Amino acid sequence: MNYDYDVLVIGSGPGGYVAAIRAAQLGLTVAVAERGSVGGVCLNIGCIPSKSIIHQAEIYRSRSKLEQMGVKVDASGFRYEDVFSASRKTADTLSKGVAYLLKKNKVELIAGAARLVSGNEAAVIGANGSERRARAGAVILAVGSRPRAIPGLEFDGTHILSSDDALMLKELPRRALVVGAGAIGMEFSHILNAFGSEVHLVEMADRVLPLEDGEVTAVVKRSFMKRGIKVHTSSKVVSHSIGGGCVSAVIEGADGGRSEVAADKIFVMTGRTPNTAGIGLEEAGVNVLPSGFIDVGDYYQTNVKSVYAIGDIVSSSPMLAHVASKAGEIAAERIAGHTPKSARIDPSEIPGVVYCEPQTASFGLTEEQALAQSLTVAKASFPFRACGKAVAADEAEGMVKVLADPSTKRILGAHIVGAGASELIHELLLARVSGLGLPEIALMIHAHPTLSEAVMEAARAVDGWAIHV
Ligand code: FAD
Repeated sequence: MNYDYDVLVIGSGPGGYVAAIRAAQLGLTVAVAERGSVGGVCLNIGCIPSKSIIHQAEIYRSRSKLEQMGVKVDASGFRYEDVFSASRKTADTLSKGVAYLLKKNKVELIAGAARLVSGNEAAVIGANGSERRARAGAVILAVGSRPRAIPGLEFDGTHILSSDDALMLKELPRRALVVGAGAIGMEFSHILNAFGSEVHLVEMADRVLPLEDGEVTAVVKRSFMKRGIKVHTSSKVVSHSIGGGCVSAVIEGADGGRSEVAADKIFVMTGRTPNTAGIGLEEAGVNVLPSGFIDVGDYYQTNVKSVYAIGDIVSSSPMLAHVASKAGEIAAERIAGHTPKSARIDPSEIPGVVYCEPQTASFGLTEEQALAQSLTVAKASFPFRACGKAVAADEAEGMVKVLADPSTKRILGAHIVGAGASELIHELLLARVSGLGLPEIALMIHAHPTLSEAVMEAARAVDGWAIHV
């Protein structure tokens, strides 16, 4: 059969565009079908605009530090609409940047919604209804995900908002109820609180960031409560009513006790659902789980040999941009006839970051998981309050915590909460993926004064020779 392309990628998020560029780098002819804006959720309505808003929130919040120096800050002219505009400008700049990269790599961009008609062909319907067929030797599905509503709290775009709605607000509510204390809910609670909204945060699990290490989540919860965020763990919203332009919600705790919270808007941030309906999976014979996710084998291949699936649609895979991108690279390299370093991403080597204040960053086992698996681990932590740079920068909250194999001192898990966590985690991860252990980090000279010294000290603490505690 004659194909139009070696590879057709459906979706141009961090999974799709990286897969396309990698395939083109390896000499393949590639097209990407995209029904929305280039860059997907991540660039347009996820990672990037949210981090732009968080960056501005932190500048706004830090004005109290200027006041400590006697500077009078007049915040009366503050306009959230300008914060919003800056976030859209950033998203647009990066989306255009990706479109440029696709062009530079000779990847053809086909605007429209694609639907598989077989394992090697898709129909792409443009905005004007025109249909174009694209045949390819291999297809990479990278169609991503969308916010998931919870029964009883369906999005209405006015009072009950998704993360998509939240990122498009031009004005923040005076009172907010955030449902879900995962990464997105925590980041939005941080934003809302920083800009002065009154925030209630409700989480069903017994702690915020339920997937993170218990000691880390305790630090974040304490910090949020100190900032005035009302955190309700082991709780759920059992009913709500809308009237007089606001929402009244009833929150039930684990003991059955109920309280009522009045808010101008409810932000439902409890997860995402894959965009796999209506894309021709049945026609192509691709198996899909009842949850809508797709099971993949090695190299992200589906049960249909010519069809690969990457990113947020893959079952049992964290919904993270860098996970989507790495899977895209692996699939593209495989299609090009190369042997990728590994056939699948090792889940214990995926860094996860939450950009609230204090930040968290981690990979690998938590202490609770080690316990549940009856694993004996060597563990140690080093507090930022004992790190000169952290104290000098007035960022003494948090710690670096490491879990290691007691005999080899190979890192099994690393957990950082506090300033710079999102950058610091990579030294520990590099050691882990390079087969190094904590002793190498402990012995390496780290510049003084830096936050990285806290990583070195945590590595030393495992063997009992941290100097500053
Ligand atoms: P997506 O980015 O969802 O892209 C899929 C693309 O496919 C979309 O452009 C869509 O229009 C297109 N598409 C869908 N169906 C079709 C079709 N039939 N035909 C053509 N095109 C189609 N992750 C992080 O790692 N770090 C973060 O800080 C972070 N912050 C986030 C903040 C928020 C508020 C949200 C919502 C998410 C965040 N994420 C973050 C998650 C991250 O955005 C996703 O994991 C990532 O975008 C998934 O990439 P993807 O390529 O699988 O799909």
